Amino acid sequence: TDFNTLKLSQPLLQALADEGYTQPTPIQTQAIPPALEGRDILGIAQTGTGKTAAFALPILNHLAANPVQLRSKSTRVLILAPTRELASQIAASFRTYGQHMKVSVATVFGGIPINRQIREMQRGVDVLVATPGRLIDLIQQKALSLSDVEVLVLDEADQMLDMGFIHSLRKIVPLVPKKRQTLFFSATMPKAIAELASQFIKDPVKVSV
Ligand code: AMP
Repeated sequence: TDFNTLKLSQPLLQALADEGYTQPTPIQTQAIPPALEGRDILGIAQTGTGKTAAFALPILNHLAANPVQLRSKSTRVLILAPTRELASQIAASFRTYGQHMKVSVATVFGGIPINRQIREMQRGVDVLVATPGRLIDLIQQKALSLSDVEVLVLDEADQMLDMGFIHSLRKIVPLVPKKRQTLFFSATMPKAIAELASQFIKDPVKVSV
């Protein structure tokens, strides 16, 4: 398979060409077509498989195809990740793949002062990448609303559970509209993760590598 057969918009194909990507990885080949159709995805994939692009490309394609006026303190896409390192990497990937489109990407995570993150949310963003704890702080400070979220991603869900974020996830996910697309990725799928996933996703396409 070639990226050109995946029905991605021209600015995305251009960014992939710029990056020197010639072929989608197996997780990308499996996940991108159903994600472009708006289906929920339950993905079992480790880091290094290309899973970030597997969700970032269909999300960016959706944003490009559906421009809206951003509302203050809102985000159209919410990505939850276990660590600041992963959150930063995901945000960098969105900026790289979105380099030929107009897309705003913000990150929020703990360990740094919250004020700049509050200011960044003031205008609203297209894509917010967050760790669960700091996200809840921002919501409690009324710096952020999740009522405009169209796409929710949980990345490395098993690690989020291992790090004790289950209560945070149970607080956050109900604040996202029910009518949304949910993309759920985990390196492993033990029973606890499968049960959590089943509460958050609807009739998912299962992909694994
Ligand atoms: P990830 O599993 O998302 O952490 O991605 C692992 C690495 O693979 C990252 O450095 C990506 O830039 C790279 N990558 C992702 N998709 C492709 C692709 N289709 N072709 C070449 N490199 C890729």
